[in-house]
Amino acid sequence: MKHPYGSPEYEAECAINSNCYQAVNWGRTRMGQIVDMEDKKDRVSAWSDMTNYIANLASMIRNIADGDHVHFCACCGKPEMANYREPTKSRLIDRQLCFGCDFWIERRALYNAQSRKGHLLVIKGWTYGDSGNRPNCSGNGLGFGGQRFYICQLTTGRLWTTNNLFCGGEIPAEYLPGMPDNAVMLTKEQYELAEAGRQ
Ligand SMILES: [Zn+2]
Repeated sequence: MKHPYGSPEYEAECAINSNCYQAVNWGRTRMGQIVDMEDKKDRVSAWSDMTNYIANLASMIRNIADGDHVHFCACCGKPEMANYREPTKSRLIDRQLCFGCDFWIERRALYNAQSRKGHLLVIKGWTYGDSGNRPNCSGNGLGFGGQRFYICQLTTGRLWTTNNLFCGGEIPAEYLPGMPDNAVMLTKEQYELAEAGRQ
């Protein structure tokens, strides 16, 4: 400590040291949790996030030591430097969330606020959106390169097909209970059977 005990500079330095410690310690705690994860898929995905964290750790600690902003996520405890453009930066700081938790809390809120006919689809724990079937288009610019999907929305029973489906990512395990599947993917044969059954 360079500054006299009790001075504002001393207090500021203590706060910075504490933030550095907390940032490193989050990684240590998280690694312990990952080792204990039963589901291999969850473990692999958490570990892949962890390798990014470790790769960035040295530069993050340097920035925290320089006095850059950092807060610790109210949900998962992860250090968040909030290096994003506005309004994302202010939102993360106001809510004291990391980017990942903020993203999924927003998605969950959207999912729960939508009507039965809502466009935010959850299928086997992944989120999707249909940007609209384009029968006369193929390939470039379409979701999944124009691959055709057959979908049944559980909340409405609606059946449809699209070649313009976009994936919005896999819902992390902690947010799954609040975002149950609201649609299922059918094969072409299942889709045709279901369609025929309604005529
Ligand atoms: Zn978080």
